[in-house]
Amino acid sequence: MKDIKNKKYDYLIVGSGLFGATFAHEMTKAGKSCLIIDKRDHSGGNIHCKKIEDINVHWYGAHIFHTNDKFLWDYVNQFAEFNRYTNSPIANYKGELYNLPFNMNTFYKLWGTKTPEEALKVIAKQIQHLDIDEPKNLEEQAQKLVGTDIYEKLIKHYTEKQWGTKATDLPAFIIKRLPVRFTFDNNYFNDKYQGIPIGGYNKIIDGLLKNCEIKLNVDFFEDRNYWLNIAENIVFTGKIDAFYDFQFGELEYRSLRYELEIHEIDNYQGNAVINFTDAETPYTRVYEHKHFEFGTQPKTVITKEYPLKGIKNAEPYYPVNNEKNMSLLRKYQLLAEKETKVIFGGRLAEYRYYDMHQVIASALAKSKVELRGE
Ligand code: FAD
Ligand code: UDP
Repeated sequence: MKDIKNKKYDYLIVGSGLFGATFAHEMTKAGKSCLIIDKRDHSGGNIHCKKIEDINVHWYGAHIFHTNDKFLWDYVNQFAEFNRYTNSPIANYKGELYNLPFNMNTFYKLWGTKTPEEALKVIAKQIQHLDIDEPKNLEEQAQKLVGTDIYEKLIKHYTEKQWGTKATDLPAFIIKRLPVRFTFDNNYFNDKYQGIPIGGYNKIIDGLLKNCEIKLNVDFFEDRNYWLNIAENIVFTGKIDAFYDFQFGELEYRSLRYELEIHEIDNYQGNAVINFTDAETPYTRVYEHKHFEFGTQPKTVITKEYPLKGIKNAEPYYPVNNEKNMSLLRKYQLLAEKETKVIFGGRLAEYRYYDMHQVIASALAKSKVELRGE
């Protein structure tokens, strides 16, 4: 039996992003008392949307929900209806436009190849001298998948601009996220289910948190002892190294800076996402938010996404899962494994490149384990 005499809540959940909100939803449903705190002035973490010019603006970068898992698809559909949006970004390389992900349309535009066989031949010819057996880094992986032309025009500069690191110093798995298709299919994802919640992502978070108590503008670290003692268990979704006072050093993140523009026209770029894959354009992507929801508003809102590196306290968007950081992470994980009342979950606490459906799956799995009392 747990001693809850002096504790006000069963769970204090630090962070109201998808992990915290899903966990809170499941525990509340099972009759547990939960308090959620978040240091931001809104709930939802990075999937938060702000309404500007009557358009749902993805405040922390474009988010497209996709999954292969019917259970997870039904789970999110409890809270919002999803539209039929299919992500088909365009790459702009020095003014030339190409379809993404890499597919027969991309190959045709580059080489004039009309059949898969022709395209495969071009790729094979381009890499025959490279002798890549087991790709050791992102560059080798990309060249092996799509050849050297596409690597030069659509991958190398975009990746190096985005990550602020040479493609030869990045892990191969990053590029494996992208499909390479020998069909004329511009769908960026392979998953069976995909879409944007009609009315924006806040509908999902508000649905998850409907019966939960939440305090915003509260940073756990400002009164750590108080918060540690308010509940029987803590669910921590912030940075794991911060939880342990950075005692072994800081985990690195790739960050981003967003510039928002409102334009007095109804259609700025004709697509929700355009990637700028050359080295010279300072931003990596431009989002036009209304196209995620097929909007017909008279004005339009766009966001330019710039890479940001070396800025202290920048928003920690993407973990940099290189060897140095992974060995640091293991040290923190050893401390975390010894905790009996703290659960670490989500992108920051697990230091993982999680998509939304994976975060929800992880929160559901961890809440189940808790409820079984394992
Ligand atoms: P977060 O959303 O980061 O939530 C953590 C919360 O904890 C935040 O609200 C934070 O304020 C709070 N917090 C942290 N520390 C403290 C503290 N000390 N005290 C109080 N509160 C604290 N996924 C997809 O599936 N599709 C996409 O298209 C997609 N696009 C993405 C684009 C970008 C630019 C980024 C960065 C991610 C994208 N993702 C996408 C991933 C998606 O954003 C994450 O999987 C998901 O939002 C992670 O949820 P989380 O709860 O783990 O973390
Ligand atoms: N990528 C690229 N060119 C593109 C799009 C993606 O080289 O036009 C590479 C880049 O290295 C990126 C990776 O593919 O980090 C994964 O792309 P994704 O769109 O999944 O990145 P995210 O949305 O997570 O930033």
